[in-house]
Amino acid sequence: MTEERVSWPKYFMLQAVMMASRGTCTRLQVGAVVVKQGRIIASGYNGSVAGTPHCEDVGDLMVDGHCIRAVHAEQNALMQMAKMGIASDGAEIYVTDFPCVYCTKLLLQAGIKKINYLRNYRNDDFAMELIDEKQVELEQVEISASDVEKMHFERYITSD
Ligand SMILES: [Zn+2]
Ligand SMILES: [Zn+2]
Repeated sequence: MTEERVSWPKYFMLQAVMMASRGTCTRLQVGAVVVKQGRIIASGYNGSVAGTPHCEDVGDLMVDGHCIRAVHAEQNALMQMAKMGIASDGAEIYVTDFPCVYCTKLLLQAGIKKINYLRNYRNDDFAMELIDEKQVELEQVEISASDVEKMHFERYITSD
C-alpha cells in the first residue's frame, strides 16, 4: 500500500457523487450526504415525490427556468432524517452542487454547521448572505482525476 488514500472530505464528496448518479431530473443530477462525527447519517438525491412519476420518464416540469418536479437532494436528506427521527443539529452536509436559496434556508434552519460543495451552480447571493450571517462554514471540496483513480472501480468489476 504505497498509494495515498482518498481524504475524508473527498471520500464524503464522492459518496455524494454516488448519490447523484440516482438523480432523476434530466436538468441536473445532484447528490447529498449528511455527516456527523465522521459518520454518514443521511443521504439524498434529487427525484420526484416518492411514488409519483420522475422527470426522466415524463419530462421536466419547468416554471421560471427551474424544474419544479424534483425534491432537491438536500431536502430529501433532511426529510429522511425527519421521517426517521435523526437529529440534524450540528451536522455538516456534502452536496455535489451549490445549494439553491430554498435548500440553503432549510439547511441553516436544520442546524447544519458546514456546507461542503463540489460544483458552483447558479450560486445565489441571498443564500451566500444567509450562510455568512449564520456563520456557517462554506467550503468547496474539489475532485481531481487522481482522486477518482484512487477509487479503483476496476477492481470491483465482477461481470461483463
Ligand atoms: Zn426535472
Ligand atoms: Zn435546492
